[in-house]
Amino acid sequence: MTRFIFITGGVVSSLGKGLCSAALGALLQARGYKVRLRKLDPYLNVDPGTMSPYQHGEVYVTDDGAETDLDLGHYERFTGVASKQGDNVTSGRIYSTVITKERRGDYLGGTVQVIPHVTDQIKEFVEAGITDEDFILCEIGGTVGDIESLPFLEAIRQLGNELGPERSMFMHLTLIPYISAAGELKTKPTQHSVKELLGLGIRPDVLMVRIDRELPPSERRKIALFCNVREEAVIPAMDVDSIYQVPIAYHAEGLDAQVCKHFKLSYEKEPDLSRWKDIVHRVREPEGEVTIAVVGKYVQLKDAYKSLSESLMHGGIANNVRVKLDWIDSEVFEREDAVTHLEHVDGILVPGGFGERGSQGKIEAARFAREKNVPYFGICFGMQMAVIEAARNIAGIQKASSTEFGNTPDPVVGLMTEWVKGNEVQRRTEAGDKGGTMRLGAYACALAAGSRVRDIYGTPSIMERHRHRFEVNINYKQALEKAGMKFSGMSPDGVLPEIVEYPDHPWFIGVQFHPELKSKPFEPHPLFTSFIEAAIKQSRLV
Ligand code: GLN
Repeated sequence: MTRFIFITGGVVSSLGKGLCSAALGALLQARGYKVRLRKLDPYLNVDPGTMSPYQHGEVYVTDDGAETDLDLGHYERFTGVASKQGDNVTSGRIYSTVITKERRGDYLGGTVQVIPHVTDQIKEFVEAGITDEDFILCEIGGTVGDIESLPFLEAIRQLGNELGPERSMFMHLTLIPYISAAGELKTKPTQHSVKELLGLGIRPDVLMVRIDRELPPSERRKIALFCNVREEAVIPAMDVDSIYQVPIAYHAEGLDAQVCKHFKLSYEKEPDLSRWKDIVHRVREPEGEVTIAVVGKYVQLKDAYKSLSESLMHGGIANNVRVKLDWIDSEVFEREDAVTHLEHVDGILVPGGFGERGSQGKIEAARFAREKNVPYFGICFGMQMAVIEAARNIAGIQKASSTEFGNTPDPVVGLMTEWVKGNEVQRRTEAGDKGGTMRLGAYACALAAGSRVRDIYGTPSIMERHRHRFEVNINYKQALEKAGMKFSGMSPDGVLPEIVEYPDHPWFIGVQFHPELKSKPFEPHPLFTSFIEAAIKQSRLV
């Protein structure tokens, strides 16, 4: 029997609803249940793929090629369950499905309305593709009170009714601010938010309250009374020093026990949290520290590189070191010498990116790393920039560039108009749609015998996730290999370069895919583990 837990948020955004959902998923898993997490996003984009990183943070890509909300990254990192296309649904997708059906005549002459047509479509998505999961945790994006989220709240209200309390539960996350002038914690915003929810017909069964200090029993009683929730189901969610402490902290406050109690499941036996305790121990008591420069364009907004910073931390966990990140806007290298910014670092990472702005700085960073023998990890755009650097500065192809920046006589990176996925040929045109037309999702890559990456992965073939439009141009392979840059990973048909490396450099690897999307704290990605290991060696040199 699959049970549904609907998670809403109130008072303000950015309370960490995604993390809270992911942590609850991990706790239920630790109790032996099979879980899947889903997210309903109220905005009208069909998916976040067309949104700027400044707007939305990172776009998380699934194996099956969906461009999704970054919360799905938290879900995967906390549960290890690979997300799928159907695990993130936006209002845009719902409406576009409903409108397509209407045009097709599926509604048989009826007037198409938010209730029941849009809400039915939402319910269909929530319940689709479920196999043998014990729990579906369904997070509703946004904050209760937003106009956009109303159809979603109405749909989950209906579902709650249809499924009954034995199969559904509502959890609401709010904030209890501390007003320093009065020296008091304030419960009023939480009361208002619950009132709003009650007005929509949803009664929360569990209230999670974000708070920056202990919740006194008197305040807990007050919230329970005013919000019509059992006192023990008011769970304080205090700030913690590591996100991987969250499952442990929520368990200590009784969250998983309350959920089990609601569904009349036994909760006396303690869940096995040893995995999380080990990770937190490693995070809190590292044996050393390395500094990695992340040279990117969206560095002011850390959410744009969420999976990346987590993966670097996982590399640290694997090597028992703390990883300090120096976020550097690549444009500074276009004005100032790279040395002043990169001299002290133990490794340089150039992440994914789009557009010409800042690209020259990334090329400079790759050059610095190559010439000074500093470990370099280029991801997607970071690989493409390393290839342009090699073409210009070693192979002597002075005009080498990417067609992403305009016409060039030497397109060492160019637009792919046709490629193979499985047994199918995929196509795109220059004037085609922007949304959903990149090379997306998991593709196989064959690793060259004797290469460093083959050694790191320990297997001849890998599957990694992609999200890009441009590719390193195979026609320049010979010239670049002659210059010393080896093409150590290729698509199985040998057409698309997937990995480049310098065999005579301490650690210089560029990958066309996004390894950060598959790293987990309890299963750090081998490339990040190896990169941090190289950075430790480098730190002993400087
Ligand atoms: N802009 C590049 C492309 O589309 C790289 C994309 C990325 O780094 N994800 O190919």
